[in-house]
Amino acid sequence: MQSVVLKDLTPPQLDEWLSELGEPAYRARQLRAWLYERGAPSFAAMTDLPAGLRARLAAAAVLETAAVVDRARSRADGSLKVLLRLRDGELVEAVAMPGESRPTLCLSSQAGCPLDCVFCETGRSGFARNLSPGEILDQVLLLRAELPPEAPRPNLVFMGMGEPLLNPDALLAALETLTHPEGLGYGGRRITVSTAGIPEGIRRLAAAPVPVGLALSLNAADPALRAALMPVAARHGIDELLAACDEYARSALRRVTIEYVLFAGINDRAEDAFALARVLRDRPFRINLIPYNPGERTERLRLPGGAEAELRRPGAAAVERFAGRLAGRVHAVTVRWSQAVDVGGGCGQLRARRRSRGA
Ligand code: SAH
Repeated sequence: MQSVVLKDLTPPQLDEWLSELGEPAYRARQLRAWLYERGAPSFAAMTDLPAGLRARLAAAAVLETAAVVDRARSRADGSLKVLLRLRDGELVEAVAMPGESRPTLCLSSQAGCPLDCVFCETGRSGFARNLSPGEILDQVLLLRAELPPEAPRPNLVFMGMGEPLLNPDALLAALETLTHPEGLGYGGRRITVSTAGIPEGIRRLAAAPVPVGLALSLNAADPALRAALMPVAARHGIDELLAACDEYARSALRRVTIEYVLFAGINDRAEDAFALARVLRDRPFRINLIPYNPGERTERLRLPGGAEAELRRPGAAAVERFAGRLAGRVHAVTVRWSQAVDVGGGCGQLRARRRSRGA
């Protein structure tokens, strides 16, 4: 019999699977409590299930999809980054960041990423494969196990490795389990999916069982500059993406955020702020400014005019100036200084290091 990865199943699928084994519905409830809340280390540890069922589960099903193989805690802000090894040896990262009222968990959707944005470490280490629903879910469960028991329920952001909307089937299945009352019971307001801009994926996300927040990584209001930073921009224009976001936002429950990574001298000038305000005019979207978090090596960018520029993080004063130019012209602006910079907290940096060490 082929092994079933239980966390790949949504709560209704798990019910169905157990009923096919001839088990009553209350067994599914007991099993879900072990999977999503109590975190049993093995089927044998699920002591309220009959021994015969535990043995059948152990023979037919897989409990864990990932194991923590490395941890790095930031001395600067207390963020905890974990490196997870999946069953086939692939590595992915996930991060728990402290917050004022609650922690935020930053989740990966793919092992590596095919998009190859110039500024992102994940793209550099290549694309391996999509994650399964269970591998997405296990990041939440493993990170939650690292938090103090009294920590409030975290926010979840798909801003780790990979492009979530290039893995929509697993993403939607994981979102169903995360938000299902018989699953982890998260509210959609606690969850944000961040995309480099895949319109078809945005439309599919709009059909998620529970509405979640969407973040679009715009990073430039000028199409040529955006394409230089993000090769995927050649496939979908800014107008097309913003139209997909407008449609997404039409239901009041779906928030749209525009992410804008700031690079000194490249997209942080006065004219860049005014161009950004112009393309977002009248849209109820919050803008999140993210000062660039440089990796170990200096990246160079070929600008639309043909000149080359180095990617550098702007200083605090330049960031404030940029935010000030947007204020009053757009719906709302916030600045997010990357956390955990001292432990390679930027996307893909822990995995990149481990791979370059040959692990
Ligand atoms: N593929 C998705 C999710 C992963 S990236 C997306 O593109 O949105 C999550 C966010 O981190 C994006 O807004 C991206 O622009 C930003 N990001 C990537 N590398 C960064 C870096 N080195 N410094 C600052 N932000 C970065």
